[in-house]
Amino acid sequence: MRFHIVFAHPEAASLNAFLRDRALSALRAAGHEFTQSDLYTMGFKAVADGADCPDDNADPLIYHAATRRAHALDKLSADILAEQAKLLAADVIVLQFPLWWFGMPAIIKGWADRVFCSGFAIGVPHIHKRAWRRYGEGPLEGKLAMLAVTTGAKSAHLSDRGEHGPIADLLFPINHGLLHYAGATVVEPFLIHGASSLSGLEADRFAATYCERLLDIDAATVIPYRSENGGAYRRGVLVEDTAAGSGFALHIGEPVRSADEEQL
Ligand SMILES: Cc1cc2nc3c(=O)[nH]c(=O)nc-3n(C[C@H](O)[C@H](O)[C@H](O)COP(=O)(O)OP(=O)(O)OC[C@H]3O[C@@H](n4cnc5c(N)ncnc54)[C@H](O)[C@@H]3O)c2cc1C
Repeated sequence: MRFHIVFAHPEAASLNAFLRDRALSALRAAGHEFTQSDLYTMGFKAVADGADCPDDNADPLIYHAATRRAHALDKLSADILAEQAKLLAADVIVLQFPLWWFGMPAIIKGWADRVFCSGFAIGVPHIHKRAWRRYGEGPLEGKLAMLAVTTGAKSAHLSDRGEHGPIADLLFPINHGLLHYAGATVVEPFLIHGASSLSGLEADRFAATYCERLLDIDAATVIPYRSENGGAYRRGVLVEDTAAGSGFALHIGEPVRSADEEQL
């Protein structure tokens, strides 16, 4: 299997870097191929702007349209093309970062804004039917995706009744809005809560669990987000008898036991 880890932490001596290093060692030892985008070390440009389509001089800049044209002509900036190529070559995509202000650090949010551009992940049409290839279909179809996230808050505070809101809801925009949108099969995240003050022993145990999760990724529990073209939606809205209530959970369908079974 070929893994691609997108890593966002500014400090090489951080807990996150320790976990990432252990994960890469475990993948190497198990004979897996892997690539990595260590965004801070790469100095990855986190802001979307006209430089992302260097040969497109349209004024005013309409980023969505300009990146769409540049994608069609293979003229996106080299750093975006390289990131898209790494995603397309991977079987498993892992986004690893500390939770910052209820979401991704800016550098990886910017990576998502720029790499998942129009034409690549947005506005990809079906050839034979009038529909978009998104929410279960798209460039990442057939690939597994997992978030690996550390939080300062304790698990109870990120539970259904916790004051910060459920972690599943905080991660929904990334899991559903980015990864499932682009077609990936999304598995339950690897989470370390209360990560701001861990002993060396605790960090070591968490690193071992992270490695196990990666090496056993086929057995991971899939989050069964509904497919846009699978019948649950009509014109982008859930059909009435699909599910009752409100909120993000409505977009999760019947459980699938593991990534293995989902891929069958
Ligand atoms: C801007 C900002 C916004 C934030 N917003 C949120 C938020 O919305 N929600 C939330 O829950 N939290 C939030 N946090 C907290 C943040 O999620 C945690 O600080 C982070 O997850 C900890 O991961 P780290 O890699 O930075 O840990 P580090 O700070 O590098 O380390 C954490 C602990 O692990 C210990 N440790 C043990 N073994 C090792 C080892 N081998 N290597 C390195 N360290 C080790 C360190 O000594 C330290 O005590 C925020 C933090 C920032 C800076």
